[in-house]
Amino acid sequence: MKTSARVVIIGGGVVGCSVLYHLTKLGWSDVMLLERSDLTSGSTWHAAGGFHTLNGDTNMAALQGYTIRLYRELEEITGMSCGLHHVGGVTLADNQDRFDMLVAERAKHRFMGLETEIVTPDEIKKIAPVTNIEGIIGGLFDPLDGHLDPSGTTHAYAKAARMGGATIETHCKVIETNQRADGTWDVVTDKGTVHAEHIVNAAGLWAREVGAMAGVYFPLHPMEHQYLVTEEVPMIADIIDSGGEHPHVMDPAGESYLRQEGRGLCIGFYEQPCRPWAVDGTPWDFGHELLPDDFDKIEDSIEFAYKRFPALEQAGIKSVIHGPFTFAPDGNPLVGPVPGMRNYWSACAVMAGFSQGGGVGLMLAQWMTQGECERDTFAMDCARFGDWITPGYTRPKVIENYQKRFSVSYPNEELPAARPFRQTPMFDVFDNMGAVWGHQYGLEVVNYFAQDDEARFETPSFRRSNAFDATAREVKSVREAVGINEVHNFGKYLVTGTGARGWLDRIMAGRIPKPGRLSLTPMLSPKGRLIGDFTVSCLSEQAFQLTASYGSQAYHMRWFEQNEANDVTVENISDQLNGFQITGPNARDVLQSCTRSDISQMRFMDVRHLTMGMVDCLVQRVSYTGDLGYEIYCDPMAQRNLWATLWDAGQPFGMRPFGMRAMMSLRLDKFFGSWLSEYSPDYTAAETGLDRFISFKKDIDFIGRKPALAERDSGPSRRLCAFEVNAEDADVNAYEPIWIDGSVVGFCTSGGYSHYARKSIALGFVPVELITDDLEVDIEILGHRRKARMLNEPLFDADGARMRG
Ligand SMILES: Cc1cc2nc3c(=O)[nH]c(=O)nc-3n(C[C@H](O)[C@H](O)[C@H](O)COP(=O)(O)OP(=O)(O)OC[C@H]3O[C@@H](n4cnc5c(N)ncnc54)[C@H](O)[C@@H]3O)c2cc1C
Repeated sequence: MKTSARVVIIGGGVVGCSVLYHLTKLGWSDVMLLERSDLTSGSTWHAAGGFHTLNGDTNMAALQGYTIRLYRELEEITGMSCGLHHVGGVTLADNQDRFDMLVAERAKHRFMGLETEIVTPDEIKKIAPVTNIEGIIGGLFDPLDGHLDPSGTTHAYAKAARMGGATIETHCKVIETNQRADGTWDVVTDKGTVHAEHIVNAAGLWAREVGAMAGVYFPLHPMEHQYLVTEEVPMIADIIDSGGEHPHVMDPAGESYLRQEGRGLCIGFYEQPCRPWAVDGTPWDFGHELLPDDFDKIEDSIEFAYKRFPALEQAGIKSVIHGPFTFAPDGNPLVGPVPGMRNYWSACAVMAGFSQGGGVGLMLAQWMTQGECERDTFAMDCARFGDWITPGYTRPKVIENYQKRFSVSYPNEELPAARPFRQTPMFDVFDNMGAVWGHQYGLEVVNYFAQDDEARFETPSFRRSNAFDATAREVKSVREAVGINEVHNFGKYLVTGTGARGWLDRIMAGRIPKPGRLSLTPMLSPKGRLIGDFTVSCLSEQAFQLTASYGSQAYHMRWFEQNEANDVTVENISDQLNGFQITGPNARDVLQSCTRSDISQMRFMDVRHLTMGMVDCLVQRVSYTGDLGYEIYCDPMAQRNLWATLWDAGQPFGMRPFGMRAMMSLRLDKFFGSWLSEYSPDYTAAETGLDRFISFKKDIDFIGRKPALAERDSGPSRRLCAFEVNAEDADVNAYEPIWIDGSVVGFCTSGGYSHYARKSIALGFVPVELITDDLEVDIEILGHRRKARMLNEPLFDADGARMRG
C-alpha cells in the first residue's frame, strides 16, 4: 500500500468516489481513497438510484443538474455503464400551495437553463398513466429526472479516478487520524499508516465516527428508509413491450416517489412515523445487511399510494429494501473545509448521493485545488452550522427534515423542531410583549409583535402573510417615532494587536476607519467574489470591532483563521456582546435622555463609549433601517438593565419594539442589500454596487484587489437594480425571473413590501446594456408576469438628510 498521498479520502461510497474523480479531473493525481470494505459498502449499495434536479436552493438545484449531466461523461470516459434511464419525472400538486411552489420552481429554472414544464392533470395522465389524477391540479415535469445503477455508477467514478492517477485501497479501515505539527495527517489504518497533506471525510454512515477520530462533531444523523419493489405490473409491462419507459412520479401528498423497476414498480416513502437509526453511533460491523422490513411504519403511506397508483394494489411485493442514510439538520450536504481544523475537509451528509454526488465532488475539488468554488456553496457549506450545534439538536431537526422532505417549503416558514434552543436574556420580556419568533443559526429572533387580538403564529405562505399588519405598524413607529430591537443577531468580532490595522487593510477591500469612526467594507475572495459585508468600528489603533451576518460566524472565522497573522488576534464575540438598536426620528432624544454625555456632536458613523443609565456601552451611530439610529452594545449580563433604561426613556417619545419582518421592509426603502441575497460569493462588488466602498486608493494589496481593479476597468456585465412591482397579493421573494421583450434577462435576489412607501419592491440583476433610467420589465411572481419599473432613487431619505442629520 502507498504510504503517502497528497489527499486521503476516507470512504468509498458514491460521494468519496466522486470527490476522488473530480480531484483527478482538476489535476491532482496523487490522491488516494481508503475503503474499509468493498466500494459501495455504506448507504450506496442499497439506494434506489433515482435522481432529480428539484431543490429549494438554486445553487443546489444547479449542482444537481451538473451531477445528472455528468453520468454520460463518465460512461464515455470509462466505457462502463451507469445503467442510466433518463425517463423524466413529474411532481404532483394536489393543492394550491403545492402548485404555487412548483410554479415558483419552474420560474427559477428559466434562468438556470433547466427545461422543466408545468403540466395539467390530463397531461400527467398521458405522461405517467399509473397515476390516478383525481384531486390533482397540476404538476412539474422535469425531463432530466431518471434512475441509474448505484453500484455501476460508483464503480464508474472509481475507474475514471484511477484513469486519472488515483489509488483506491479497499478492505482498509481507517482507525485513527492524527495531525502532525505541520498540519499534515497520519491516517492510521489496519494495513498501515498513510501520510497525507489533506484528509476528506466521506465516510457516509460512519462520518460521525471518523470525525470523532479528529475530535470533530459532524451534525448529521442516519435515518431508516424503506422502498418496495413489486412483481410485474401489467400496465408497465405493456409500456416496456411497446418500447417505452414510465417516468418517475413524486407525490408529495403521499410522501412517496415511484418509478419503474424491471417490469414492475418501485415505490419509496418519507413516512411521518420515521425512525432515526444508530443514535449512539453506527456499528462498525454494519455494511452489507438490510434492516428488518417494517410495514407498520409505512402502513398509512401504502394505503395512500394504493389510491394514487391503483396498479400497485394488484402487484405482489417482490422485495423490500430498508436501509439507513444520513441527513444534516436542514437536509443539505456538509461540504468544505471544516471550521477550526487545518487540512480537514468534509464530504458528508449527502442524502441524495445520485442527485448531488457529482456537484459535491466538483465543488470540493475546486475548493481544494483552486482555493474557492465557482459558485456560492453556503447551502451545503459545513460552516453554516456553528459550534453551538449538538447531537441533541441535530436529531430532532433531522427527523423534522425527513418528515418534511416532500412538504411545501414557504419563504416565511419557521420550522418548530429543537426550539427554542438559544435565547438571550430578553426572551421572556419580548415573549410577554407578543413576540412571534423566528430563528437564525440556532438563536431565537423576534419576527414581529402580535397584538392581543392577533394570532401568535405567522401562517406560512407564498403570498403576504398575517404578519402584514403588524409589520406595517412597526415600520410606522420607526419612521414616525422610534423603534427598538435587539442586536443579538449580528456576528461580532474583536480584532486586536499591533498588526490589527494592517491585517484589516489586507483582509478587507474598503477603507479602515480612524479611531472613533466606522466604515462599511466588502470582503473579497482572491477571485474578487463577495465573501463578506462588514461594518468596521475603530475603538483604538489596536482594537477594532467588526459586525456582519450572524449566520456566517463559522464561515467568517474560518476565513480569518486561514489568513491569520502573528501580530493580530481575532475573537468571535458574537454572543458576548448584546444590546439594542434604537432608530427613527426620535432616537437621538431617547439616547440623550439615557446618558449624561453630550451626544449632540455624535456624527453619522461615529462610535463612542457611553454610560447608558448604569450600563457601560459601545454606541455606534448607524442603522440598517436607513434612518437616524444607534446600535448600543453591552455585556449581556447588563442587558435587562439597559432595556429598562431605554424602554422607560423611550415611552414619552413613542418607542415601540420591532422585529425582523419590519427590519427587512425598512431596508428595502433604501435598497440596502442583505447578506446571501444581494451579497454572496455568487456576485462581485461591482455587480452589487458595493464597489463604492472599495478603497483602491489605499496602497495595499488587499485580497481580491486585482480582479476588483480589472472589473472597475471593464465594468461588470450585470448590475443590481431596484424595481417597483405592480404586484397583487404576492411580492418577490428570491430568484424570480426578470423578463424584457418576452425573454428572461435576469433574476431577482430579494424583495418584499415597503410599508413606508406602500410599494412592492424587488431587487435583481439585469445586464448593463439593457439598463436605462426608465427601464420597464416584467417580473414573474407565482406564474404571473407583473409589470415593474426601475427606481433610480431610494424611497426614503434619498438625500440621507435624516440618516446623517
Ligand atoms: C433505502 C435507500 C434508498 C435510497 N435511494 C436513493 C435514491 O434513489 N437516490 C439518491 O440519490 N440517493 C438515495 N439514497 C441515499 C444514498 O444512498 C446516499 O445519499 C449515498 O449512498 C451516500 O453516499 P456516501 O458515499 O456519502 O456514503 P456511504 O454510501 O455510506 O459510503 C461511506 C463509505 O465509507 C466507508 N467507511 C466508513 N468508515 C470508514 C473507515 N473508517 N475507513 C474506511 N472506510 C470507511 C464505508 O464502508 C462506506 O463504503 C437512498 C438511501 C437509502 C437508505
